[in-house]
Amino acid sequence: MREHAALLRGLGADVVHVRRPEELATVQGLVIPGGESSVIDKLARSFGMQAPIRAAIASGLPVYGTCAGLILLADEVLDGIEGQQSFGGMDISVRRNAFGRQTESFETALDVPTLGDPPVRATFIRAPIVERAGARVEVLATLPDGGIVAVEQGPLIGTSFHPEVDGETRFHERFLAHVVDHAAGR
Ligand code: GLN
Repeated sequence: MREHAALLRGLGADVVHVRRPEELATVQGLVIPGGESSVIDKLARSFGMQAPIRAAIASGLPVYGTCAGLILLADEVLDGIEGQQSFGGMDISVRRNAFGRQTESFETALDVPTLGDPPVRATFIRAPIVERAGARVEVLATLPDGGIVAVEQGPLIGTSFHPEVDGETRFHERFLAHVVDHAAGR
């Protein structure tokens, strides 16, 4: 969360931490960070945030989700804990902890054609994978084995990995471009 905030501030954005509906109402975009998706889900529900976030997504609020954040943006979560819910919004099915124990965490250079050169340094930490992407979803990046790890659907972006820990700014710049469009009513 700290890394996202620092990176976004470095790009000129005003950043506030959103924990309650009143704070959500003030922002023009939302980053859902990594962590533990089942915990974020439970906290969001107990703080009365699930319905407001769903409504914000439905109304076109730009959202960028990394790792657990990607899981929370998925319409379908695979291997969730009992009763785990997501906010949804992206027509994708995401499997949690998809890389098994051996490769719990790894770093790789990832080609992201939309972002151009150089490749993205991508850090995966107990990362999920996108197993299904619907017709409206643009696949931004895949691993060499074809596994989908970055997606976009309208103003929603999701990555399985954490660009913010490597100082990679291009996904956040893309998110901020959506924010500017949204704030301008485009
Ligand atoms: N494995 C975590 C989950 O299921 C995600 C890990 C992360 O965000 N780095 O939510």
